[in-house]
Amino acid sequence: ADMQVATPKRTKEIIAKHGFSFKKSLGQNFLIDQNILDKIVSAAKLDKTKGALEIGPGIGALTQKLADAAAVVTAVEIDNRLIPILEEVLEGQEHVEVVHGDVLKLNLQELLERRYKDVTGISVVANLPYYVTTPILMKLLEERLPLEHIVVMIQKEVAERMAAKPGGKTYGSLSVAVQYYCEPELVCTVPHTVFIPQPNVDSAVIKLTLRSEPPVKVEDEDFYFRVVQASFSQRRKTLANNLGAFVGKHNRDKLLELLQACEVDPSRRGETLSLEEFARISEQLRQSDW
Ligand code: SAM
Repeated sequence: ADMQVATPKRTKEIIAKHGFSFKKSLGQNFLIDQNILDKIVSAAKLDKTKGALEIGPGIGALTQKLADAAAVVTAVEIDNRLIPILEEVLEGQEHVEVVHGDVLKLNLQELLERRYKDVTGISVVANLPYYVTTPILMKLLEERLPLEHIVVMIQKEVAERMAAKPGGKTYGSLSVAVQYYCEPELVCTVPHTVFIPQPNVDSAVIKLTLRSEPPVKVEDEDFYFRVVQASFSQRRKTLANNLGAFVGKHNRDKLLELLQACEVDPSRRGETLSLEEFARISEQLRQSDW
């Protein structure tokens, strides 16, 4: 067990040996708790027929566990100072590949095709850098990568927004976007003390299970998301106001009629609308001339 990276002692040793210093700007908070790592890995439902993609392996705490649980592991790390450390920690593990690069710039489709030919499913499992959590997750979802689950440690507040239901305080365009592609489930919240260095925010593990089909049918997804964005553009304002700004003031009467026809009260706020109600409105808006 002393070969495990994720203990305070071993992590400090590795860092000292390589003279590594943490870069706050890269969101470097390394996990030092075996229990949390086990929870993350077990939520991903991996086995020796599955593949795992890790984003931001750090010094390999989670990567080690993924190597034990999955048939193929790929870990994408932006910080070149970590590459030799990862190679040492993961030495002799032929089914694990470390890729040096920025996940936001990588061609992931190509990477998945190259690495996961022989697996029965691929999941993303990661302790994400918090400064780019949303761009990374939106990239994974919008590119429609062939993923089963995304199990990630993120800022607790962001996890809550992703899983929020209509009417909830934190429900917004991020909730709609995530729930369009996935079924979210909060796995656990996590105290600061399981990281070196400790982050300033609370953390949580969220599991996103990708849907085979969106829960609502819309002809034009970009337009749907623009309508959702517009509906939340000013949180305190009603749909009549927010969508009024979207279609133009001179179209206000027509907008009110359209909302009535969709059976959505114009005095409601975006934060009360379901994905289905947004779909109805966006389809009607798209089909009218403005
Ligand atoms: N997985 C390790 C752990 O749990 O201990 C480290 C997690 S740490 C929160 C985030 C990691 O993501 C860091 O190693 C950081 O260098 C890396 N990282 C930050 N931005 C990245 C990016 N755009 N692409 C790939 N890796 C990135």
